[in-house]
Amino acid sequence: MTFQELNLKPDILSAISELGYEQPMPVQEQTIPFMLEKNADLVALAQTGTGKTAAFGLPVLNMIDVSRKQVQALVLAPTRELCIQIANDLNNYSKYLRGLRIVAVYGGEDIRKQLKQLDGTPQIIVATPGRLIDLLERGKINLGAIDFLVLDEADEMLNMGFKEDIETILQKTPDTRRTMLFSATMPKEIASIAKRYMKDYEEITVGVKNSGSENVEHIYYVSQAKQRYLVLKRIVDLNPDIYGIVFCRTRQETKEVADHLMKDGYSADALHGDLSQAQRDTVMQKFRIRNIQLLVATDVAARGLDVSDLTHVINYNLPDDVEVYTHRSGRTGRANKKGVSVSIIHSKEKFKIKDIERMLKKQFQQQQIPNGLEVCKKQLFFMIDKMQNVEVNEDQIAPYIEQIMKQLDYLNKEEVLKRFVSLEFNRFLEYYKDAEDLNYHERSDRSSDRSERSDRAGRDSKSGGDRQKKGGRKVRLKINLGDREGLNPKRFLGIINDVTGDKSISIGSIEITNKFTFFDVFEDQSDQVLKAFASEPDMIVSEAKGGKSYEGKPYEGAKRDNSKYGSGSYKDGSSRGSARKQDGADKPWRSRDRNDRNDRRSKGGRNR
Ligand code: AMP
Repeated sequence: MTFQELNLKPDILSAISELGYEQPMPVQEQTIPFMLEKNADLVALAQTGTGKTAAFGLPVLNMIDVSRKQVQALVLAPTRELCIQIANDLNNYSKYLRGLRIVAVYGGEDIRKQLKQLDGTPQIIVATPGRLIDLLERGKINLGAIDFLVLDEADEMLNMGFKEDIETILQKTPDTRRTMLFSATMPKEIASIAKRYMKDYEEITVGVKNSGSENVEHIYYVSQAKQRYLVLKRIVDLNPDIYGIVFCRTRQETKEVADHLMKDGYSADALHGDLSQAQRDTVMQKFRIRNIQLLVATDVAARGLDVSDLTHVINYNLPDDVEVYTHRSGRTGRANKKGVSVSIIHSKEKFKIKDIERMLKKQFQQQQIPNGLEVCKKQLFFMIDKMQNVEVNEDQIAPYIEQIMKQLDYLNKEEVLKRFVSLEFNRFLEYYKDAEDLNYHERSDRSSDRSERSDRAGRDSKSGGDRQKKGGRKVRLKINLGDREGLNPKRFLGIINDVTGDKSISIGSIEITNKFTFFDVFEDQSDQVLKAFASEPDMIVSEAKGGKSYEGKPYEGAKRDNSKYGSGSYKDGSSRGSARKQDGADKPWRSRDRNDRNDRRSKGGRNR
């Protein structure tokens, strides 16, 4: 279907075509012909981001009589930000409709300015319920000639306690009006408002009722509550180009999480009710223009923030209410883009996930909190990708190239690359080299929990101890990972645990060289290890050539090997034991993208 087929006025068609709208979105295909051709009310269940503003805006604009100086349409929306957004959209759609005036009135702004704007009676008013009541009481607005009433994000308005205000407003409008109600969810209260105040109405649903957008993937991580913040950091580090909202329960928590993130060098800021309106506007604007990557917010403060290309929504805590989850997750996966809704939970909250799954009719995926190696790999290749795609400013670089080439003449390509990568990446590797396993492990069912595998250093020495008594042949194996990948014994054991999934595998002495790691396993377990790694394309394990088998020798536990490699020096001369305490070493290296650069510039430089 095309917009031309929808019988909209040519002036409106020109405006939306200039906005780049080529085809109506599904909700628009349903609402526009309905509103233009029938004389009935409409209840539309549609998520934000589905194109609902144009879905009600275009037919209403099409039917307004611009020569009549009366308020003909009223749009009610829960927040100031949403009002501004709707009024902007309507102004864009109607830019060629001469004589049309649209005014937005909302709380949090000087009422005198709005009173002035209402002089000369606009045909369309977009309002928050509270401010509208105020203006109605001052006799500044007359709703007696209203033809169209739109209730946008009706469920949000009810959540915010506007039920009575909405009823008061509805009673001041004529019965002849046509009403359009938009809501992401359909709680009982909405159904009862529709029943009471709407005439014969048709109900349309875009997507499934009470369901999140199809484009959103829902995942969760299980950790101990006290490690929530570390999990958050790891999620963010695993997604270097993240652009998302971190939802917290309280203002206090919002402040704390945002402060920590900023202190740790992340591009983040807080949005909560303790900020003044001006401060909130500044933070939202910074986020909108991607000057910050992460907005830490309470549900209330984030309402009305209209950003359509979030990559992630992070539930720092699960909300008690499934509808709140629906709203949060509906902020990503908009406008046909993919999005991820991540929840950090503790083990006792799994039942809540089940509740949300049932209500949303969506499957949630439990994922393992990534280990340090995975995070480092992701960050490293993100940087390599960026290097590949960077725009090279030949002219600006030209005067220096000859001298640089001369200076680096003695280094080959690999060595140059290694140095550049190390320059950016050493601090990150350092931060993650001993990264702990943040996954929660059930005590009762260790063998069935995959995450459990990486938490077994203590048990190893026990099972090794049993074998020590018995003695046994050991086989020396090697893996194609070494110091250059930032491997250390602890990480190496984590990999063995993850890949084999067997806590009873005992690892003997470990020797890490630059490119390879050699390690001993008991002969009767070596096949199992080789087989497990056969399905890991990036990790090649084979028997070490010339590797010896020992018989009955005391078995060196992995823990002892740790101490062997736990101190000493890196090639770059830094000490492993103390580096994290050095300045900035507790701040992982982070990608330097456009936004970070902006941020650094505005803050006079950042220590990453
Ligand atoms: P909304 O649900 O009204 O917030 O709209 C979500 C986004 O989709 C906004 O950025 C709109 O400008 C955009 N949009 C709405 N209708 C269309 C359309 N037919 N084609 C392309 N983009 C659209």
